[in-house]
Amino acid sequence: MQGYATRPLLVLVSYGAGTNSTAMLVEMVRRGETVNAITFADTGGERPETYAYVVMFSAWLQERGYPAIETVKKGGIVETLEENCHRMKMLPSVVYGFKSCSLKFKAQPQEKFANNWPPAKDAWKRGEKVVKCLGFDADEPHRAKFDEDKKYKWRYPLLEYDMGRAECVEAIKSAGLPLPGKSACFFCPNSKPREILALPRYLQDRAVAMERNANLTVMAGLGRSWKWEDLLRADRAQLKMFECNTEMPCECIDGA
Ligand code: SF4
Repeated sequence: MQGYATRPLLVLVSYGAGTNSTAMLVEMVRRGETVNAITFADTGGERPETYAYVVMFSAWLQERGYPAIETVKKGGIVETLEENCHRMKMLPSVVYGFKSCSLKFKAQPQEKFANNWPPAKDAWKRGEKVVKCLGFDADEPHRAKFDEDKKYKWRYPLLEYDMGRAECVEAIKSAGLPLPGKSACFFCPNSKPREILALPRYLQDRAVAMERNANLTVMAGLGRSWKWEDLLRADRAQLKMFECNTEMPCECIDGA
């Protein structure tokens, strides 16, 4: 199109607060790529360290001239996923083999943000698309299923940069940032036993309260064929076996 300057497309980054999407943004910053907005969908049940990481990383991005991370939440009935599970007397849908918990509490709030984001609305009015960046890495190219639809051009920067998991970890460390750890609801049925046992006691108790409240007919509990409560009880009982009698006199001085 002679005589016309090409307007750069808006770039929207979907940030999941895990290793991949953190590395994606770190690398985009390092390469001086344009980012117009960054969204993080909060289910209300993220781990405390994830919330802290989002605040820290948002400040890091802003110091480099990038947008702050926009935290978005499910609209409609104002309740978290945890509250929703209590009200419905259910467990997160992923336990039953469905994805509606992540669709309703992760994907839809981000979509709603974009639908109400004035620059995106203007771009769509002009007939342009918005570039949406997702952090699938070079070790999982099969997850990069979308190319474009009516509104978006999907982009997978980590695939373009040929960054697998190891390179993602390295990129975060090289930027002087701590690794973010796993980003998922603390009660996620996909959690591994060691992750459940590593949760702080008050979150374990909240997950067990959700499990106890649910009408469990198909599944035994948050572990699908087993209850988190049983895992935690067994772990605590085992620990009790190793509790020492602190009243016992000891000859040690200053722990020497
Ligand atoms: S982290 Fe687990 S429980 Fe939370 S929305 Fe995703 S799949 Fe559902």
